[in-house]
Amino acid sequence: MRKPIIVGNWKMNKTIAETKAFIEAVDPAVTDKADWGIATPYLSLATAKADAKNLIIAAENCHFKDSGAYTGEVSVAMLKEIGVEWVILGHSERRQYFAETDETVNAKMIQVLTNDMTPIVCVGETLEQYEEGITKDVVKTQTVAAFKDVCPKCAERVVIAYEPVWAIGTGKTATNEIAQDVIGYIRSVVAELYGQEVADKVRIQYGGSVKPAGLKALLEQPDIDGALVGGASLVEDSYKEMIAALD
Ligand code: PGA
Repeated sequence: MRKPIIVGNWKMNKTIAETKAFIEAVDPAVTDKADWGIATPYLSLATAKADAKNLIIAAENCHFKDSGAYTGEVSVAMLKEIGVEWVILGHSERRQYFAETDETVNAKMIQVLTNDMTPIVCVGETLEQYEEGITKDVVKTQTVAAFKDVCPKCAERVVIAYEPVWAIGTGKTATNEIAQDVIGYIRSVVAELYGQEVADKVRIQYGGSVKPAGLKALLEQPDIDGALVGGASLVEDSYKEMIAALD
């Protein structure tokens, strides 16, 4: 049985003070029905990590090198020093605005996994690709590239987030059937790479305009193991509604 995992992706939102207030309100409400987490901007991570007893605290990115002349970047050692062991990789906003490529996502996967951290690696097609009917080709290419040179033992720890770019922050969610179809396909790609046993262990989230009211039905889909949630994860009450929805 795969335990559901729901992670809020805060993007470039919330100050340290706002992060503290959120954790004070939400962390005690966390139940064991799922793994619950938030990914915060770098600056808030240490505070979040120190304050949270139950929530997973994740970074939204990291660099693929150990250290060096990479102005503005953060290494996995810096994250580990403050106890952060989860990292979102390859979010479409990073691919779109910050020149993230399949190659850099793969380099980061290797860096994160070899340092015993857990990546949440994002894949998903743009609106144009969706309309062209090449969604499965796109997610296959991204998934195969992300897992290049990742060993089976590491692969089973990875969380994949399928996020159709056209559904992010737009209020347009893929129907549960579309999300299930693509996520089932992603699992079959993992099975081609590593065999069914590994594929059955990998948790795959859906992301894109997820709201508390739709969460339970989404997770009833056989291959959907959680959600990566942007907007609806920013408000304390709405995050708590998600927790209550699975109770
Ligand atoms: P959204 O963001 O829930 O606001 O659409 C999801 C994401 O980008 O991870």
